[in-house]
Amino acid sequence: MTPNSQFPAQANPLAQDGAVVMLNAGSSSLKFEVFDLGPGGLQCFLRGQIDGIGHQAHFRAKDGAGLALHDASFSGDAITTQHAALVWLLAWLRAHMVGKPVVAVGHRVVHGGTQFLQPVRVDAGVLRQLEALVPLAPLHQPHNLAPIRSLLAERPELPQVACFDTAFHQSQPPEAQMFALPWRFHEDGVRRYGFHGLSYEYIARTARNQVPALAAGRTVVAHLGNGVSLCALLDGRSLATTMGFTALDGCPMGTRCGSLDAGVVIHLARAYGMSMDAIESMLYLESGLLGLSGVSSDMQELLDSSAPGARRAVDYFVYQLAREVASMAAAIGGMDALVFTAGIGENSAPIRLAVCARLAWMGVHLDAQANAAGAARISSASSPVSVWRIATNEERMMAEHTCEVLGLRQA
Ligand code: ADP
Repeated sequence: MTPNSQFPAQANPLAQDGAVVMLNAGSSSLKFEVFDLGPGGLQCFLRGQIDGIGHQAHFRAKDGAGLALHDASFSGDAITTQHAALVWLLAWLRAHMVGKPVVAVGHRVVHGGTQFLQPVRVDAGVLRQLEALVPLAPLHQPHNLAPIRSLLAERPELPQVACFDTAFHQSQPPEAQMFALPWRFHEDGVRRYGFHGLSYEYIARTARNQVPALAAGRTVVAHLGNGVSLCALLDGRSLATTMGFTALDGCPMGTRCGSLDAGVVIHLARAYGMSMDAIESMLYLESGLLGLSGVSSDMQELLDSSAPGARRAVDYFVYQLAREVASMAAAIGGMDALVFTAGIGENSAPIRLAVCARLAWMGVHLDAQANAAGAARISSASSPVSVWRIATNEERMMAEHTCEVLGLRQA
């Protein structure tokens, strides 16, 4: 049965003609992807972003094949808020989607706390519950919620679905969710949540549907983008992950520090007189690859650079990553497969090679040619651990969730 035949046109006429819009709102950007609900299955046919919101806003859009449709700055202070960006984007989409109505909007929301264990249709009551989680993710959650609030006011009839970065990790055992702090803090929500869940869920689903060799067993997935984390999957379910209470923990990232002795934070406050805001800003925005290299937060630039700081940052990145992969494997009793994904994981053969070289003792052996060529399976035929390169697609995962929650179609 094709997916579409499960939803005959008369049962859901919009499924033939409409589109769903996925939004990912950050502090100064609004990213979007639009998926057709037509007979060919979910197809992304528009994507882009407004960035520089509040400074010098700029809009870029491409079609599904990557062809540029729009690339221009807004004049002056035309777009200074998320609300203004959303209103402008909706008007642009209306003009570019003649005959294809937007039937639903899905939102990436970083935190679902302990209440939201799966995607949810948002109404005013749900929005209030999500706003109560702002203290758990003050740098991301308010921005994620801004377009939801705007749409509830501007287009109350339009169904909206919140998709959470935390939800996929709710399958973790209690010990994976704890800090060794007085227990009352755990009960207050100071616990390990984990993030990048939409990416891991997409990889687990892709493995189930397309890579049978990966679907069952012990798999460590390395999501290496600007944000970096690892996830230990057992039969496709998350049992451990490197990010914790916030998206600061675990591996070093573009501008975030990764694991840090909590005593360092105390020392920075006492000895350097740094305020909490200054420490927060340094740990999120000035650390990681950027802090160590003094050159760039961008892995590609570091790999191309001859500056000593660039080498230092790349070496630390690889070293920590290999340590954390072994830690993830310990959480699931070993490792049958290792998957690389996201910007660095998908595109950097040298980083994959360097990480795997440090994991040879665990039975990780690459096929150098397959790795250089960016094949799907990049381990040698005799490698006890199979190694894969799989492109992630968080927006598609959100689109599938949005359709599932609203009964528009099944993935
Ligand atoms: P985000 O987390 O913002 O979605 P991405 O997943 O796009 O980020 O990953 C961005 C990172 O991927 C950057 O550090 C970039 O340099 C890196 N990257 C992309 N292509 C390459 C490449 N060919 N070689 C090395 N690093 C790359």
